[in-house]
Amino acid sequence: MSEVTLGIIGGGQLGSMLAIAAKKLNIKTVIFCDDINAPAENFCNNFVSGNYDDKKKILEFINQVDLVTYEFENIPFETLNEIQKLKPVLPKPSINRIIQHRLAEKDFVNKLNIRTTRYVSIEKKSDIDALEDFLPGILKTTTLGYDGKGQYPINSSNELGSLNIDFSKGFILEKLVKLKKEISIIITRFGNNKYEIYEPIENTHEDQILKYSKIPADIDEKIFNQSRDWAILIAEELKYIGTLCVEFFIDRNDNLYVNEIAPRVHNSGHLTINAYNVSQFENHVRAVCGLNQIPLKKISNAKMTNILGDQITHYRETQNFKQNEFFFDYLKKEIKEKRKMGHITTLI
Ligand code: ADP
Ligand code: MG
Repeated sequence: MSEVTLGIIGGGQLGSMLAIAAKKLNIKTVIFCDDINAPAENFCNNFVSGNYDDKKKILEFINQVDLVTYEFENIPFETLNEIQKLKPVLPKPSINRIIQHRLAEKDFVNKLNIRTTRYVSIEKKSDIDALEDFLPGILKTTTLGYDGKGQYPINSSNELGSLNIDFSKGFILEKLVKLKKEISIIITRFGNNKYEIYEPIENTHEDQILKYSKIPADIDEKIFNQSRDWAILIAEELKYIGTLCVEFFIDRNDNLYVNEIAPRVHNSGHLTINAYNVSQFENHVRAVCGLNQIPLKKISNAKMTNILGDQITHYRETQNFKQNEFFFDYLKKEIKEKRKMGHITTLI
């Protein structure tokens, strides 16, 4: 397999870490990204820049690779579908199409008899009038949201008057869950009933952005098992190949809900790089490239802290990290407020 070249769409920190994992496996990578300054350029063998609907640039990209995967879900379905006519795309574009749309995603999960938050489709402002039942809630764009972007908390329907948003874009209103905790499960599926699953990770968000992740999660056995079972069911049902993350809510009565699915490697799994024998990134590359499956072994408990915005300056200047601390700088050229700039994993 040493001749395989993997194409990765998206050149952020996840693309970088996929490229680093691929290199370790002797797999070459070509990254395609719409940002000419994408950090993953530092880690891949070749880099092509262009818009995600630029047919000419995409052709230039796929001519250099044997198969294509992606680091984020918001790639136009048409683009992935066109690529698929020429080279294999994993996970399959049809899976991405479901998951990139919050409504289709939640409908899919509910059909499996898995609990989600209560939700309703909103196509125009007046749709919300009769929905006191879903309030307090969060109005979310059905597509293109991440790190809390495109989300509007709504406590009562009279708050809507002041909302200046274009409802034609498609929204979903979700009932607010009284959160006790958030966890995620990362699973890499290689084929029918063949998967590697990481233990539940406990996540803490600040301003809807992930701030801390840790293992073990402080949860009871029932939630531990149910979250695993649901993640396995979702991955099997999608016939998924590669690494997938399921984000969960736990409410104050210990009910478990699926919040959302990420058809890709996930920020909460960064600690798998140092805490497991095989990281979520390596497992993703192994699964999509058809390499062998290695049984997962935890090496250590761990805690990961995201470094946002100008917090990175302090870490960049720090020389003396402790032996159990692993600092990752995503090498993003521009520091922006709340932008994920790096992370630090501490083995505990
Ligand atoms: P994103 O795509 O931005 O990650 P999420 O739907 O995962 O969007 O929301 C980000 C965070 O906002 C969640 O992890 C959670 O902390 C909070 N949140 C979102 N929806 C709800 C909800 N219905 N009830 C309670 N908290 C929520
Ligand atoms: Mg989320």
